[in-house]
Amino acid sequence: MSELIHREQCPQCSKKGEDNKKDNLAVYDTHSHCYKCGYHFVFNSAKKNNFRTSKTPVQDDTWKEEYKGEYHPLTDRRIRGETLEKYKVKVELDSDGNVAKHHYPYYNQDGDMCGIKTRIVKKKKFFGKGITSKDNKLFGQQLYKPGGITLTICEGELDAMSATKCLVTNIILCQSIMVLTVLIISKQT
Ligand SMILES: [Zn+2]
Repeated sequence: MSELIHREQCPQCSKKGEDNKKDNLAVYDTHSHCYKCGYHFVFNSAKKNNFRTSKTPVQDDTWKEEYKGEYHPLTDRRIRGETLEKYKVKVELDSDGNVAKHHYPYYNQDGDMCGIKTRIVKKKKFFGKGITSKDNKLFGQQLYKPGGITLTICEGELDAMSATKCLVTNIILCQSIMVLTVLIISKQT
């Protein structure tokens, strides 16, 4: 049996603004557990005597602060604002009104937005924030139901959005045929 050491604030509950009494988390000698939200953390043997849960896995939400801007049309790529809105791709402008950054959202297999890839237009640089691992859905995959017959593979997010325009014609031509788009994210980071 595990021995109850003390109670402290649950990191998960506190993020939701709950557990202000700071006693939801029951800390045992081997693990800690929140009976309110189910948060569970097992201490590894090396830290058995370390009752402070300083190494609790905290989900990194800081990408949400970076994910800003408007669904501004990308005129150079002939991609319309509606397409960006569909893909939830946000665009930041610089002080001169030029497109400075693109933020491409990524979704996990549960369909929740979990990270972004940002393109710095001038430097042609990419970086990821939050969870952008290959366990995620492919870029744009959340928009399409599985089981279609057409597969469109694109090298990058911009190509994927450009392809959307062609797909609209495709859908009209094929009428009732469902179109599946699988968009392969480019390997560059
Ligand atoms: Zn909790």
